[in-house]
Amino acid sequence: MRKTNNSFLVTGGCGFIGSHLIRFLIKNYPSNKVINFDSLTYAGNQNNLKDLIDNQNYIFHKGDLRNPKDLECVFKKHDIDIVFNLAAESHVDNSIVNPNIFAETNVIGTLNLLNICLRFWRKNLHKKLFYHISTDEVFGSLGKDGLFDENTKYDPRSPYSASKASSDHFVRAYNETYNLPTIISNCSNNYGPNQFPEKLIPLVIDRIINKKDIPVYGDGTNVRDWLYVTDHVEAINLIFLNGKIGETYCIGGDNEKNNLEIVKNLISIIDKKNNNKLSSENLIKYVEDRKGHDFRYAINFSKLKLELGWKPSTSFEKGLNKTVNWYLDNQDWINQIKSGKYRKQV
Ligand code: NAD
Repeated sequence: MRKTNNSFLVTGGCGFIGSHLIRFLIKNYPSNKVINFDSLTYAGNQNNLKDLIDNQNYIFHKGDLRNPKDLECVFKKHDIDIVFNLAAESHVDNSIVNPNIFAETNVIGTLNLLNICLRFWRKNLHKKLFYHISTDEVFGSLGKDGLFDENTKYDPRSPYSASKASSDHFVRAYNETYNLPTIISNCSNNYGPNQFPEKLIPLVIDRIINKKDIPVYGDGTNVRDWLYVTDHVEAINLIFLNGKIGETYCIGGDNEKNNLEIVKNLISIIDKKNNNKLSSENLIKYVEDRKGHDFRYAINFSKLKLELGWKPSTSFEKGLNKTVNWYLDNQDWINQIKSGKYRKQV
C-alpha cells in the first residue's frame, strides 16, 4: 500500500469531481495537506469547497496549468508527494466551438505538470506518484454491443476526447521514457452534486424546476454509463493506494442509460416531489444532434474489481434522488452561477 506523509496536489479542485476528491482526501488523510491548484475558469467554483475554508489542511493556490511559472511556484512552496491531475476543459460542446483551449489546457497543461514533477522529484522519484484522471471518451464510440476496457484501442472522435487521449499518451510516455511513476484511470460519465449546469443531468434538473424547454440531442438514444461521483472518488483512492505504477484502470458504473431515459427519470422524480399535476414531459424539445455525437460508451471494470476489489456502491435510483435533492436544496449555488456572482471570489 502506497504511503504519503507530505502533500497532495489536486489540480482542478474547484471543479465537480475535484471538489469531491478534495473533501474525501481531507477527511481520510488528516495528517496530509491538500493543495488545490486551480485557475478558476468558468467551471471552477470556490463555493464547491466553502465548507473547507477554515480547515488547516486545505490550501487553495490559484494557478494555471498553461503557465509553467505558476506550477514552479506551487512546487517551491510545498513538498508534494502525489499529484492528482483533474484540471481540464471538460465540456464536449465547448470543444467543438473552441478546440484550441482544449489543446492548451488538457495537452500542454498536462505536459507542463509532467515536466515540473520530473524537475522537482528527480532525487526521490520512487516516493512520488503522478495520477492522471481521464475519461472513457478516449476510446471512441461503441455500437449496440461491446464494452471498453484497458486494452481498447484509443479512437477519440471529439476535440475534447482527442485532447484527453493526447494527455494520456504523454503521461504514459513520461513513465516509459523518464520512469516518472504514473497511473491513469479512464472513467465513464459522472453525476452528482456540484456539477456545472452545462452538463446533462444538472441542466435538465434546472429546466424542469424552472419549467423551461429541455433540449434533447437527436432522438435521445445516445447511451452513457453513469457513475455517482463519490463512487468515482472511492475508486481513485483505491487506485492511488494500491494501483500498479505504469498501469491504466477503467472505472464504470455498470449503469447504461440513454439520454431520454435520464430525462424521463428526472422528470418523474421532480414532478413527484413538486406534486406537479401535469407531466413535465411536454418540456422535452428534440434539437439538432451534436456534431460527431458518439453513440454509446460502456465500461468493463473487471480489472479494478478483481485486482483492487472496487465496485460502485450507489444505485442509480439512489444517486439520482440524492442529486435532485442536492440541486433543490442548493438553489443558491445555481443562482450564483446564473448571475455570475460565483466568479467574484478570490
Ligand atoms: P470541471 O469542468 O467541473 O472542472 C475542471 C476544473 O479545472 C475547474 O475547476 C477549472 O477551473 C479547472 N481548470 C481548467 N483549466 C485549468 C487550467 N488551465 N489550470 C488550472 N485549472 C484549470 O471538470 P470535471 O467534470 O470535474 O472533470 C475533472 C476531470 O475528470 C477532467 O480531467 C475530466 O476530463 C475527467 N473526467 C470527467 C468525467 C465527468 O463525467 N465529469 C468523467 C471522466 C473523466
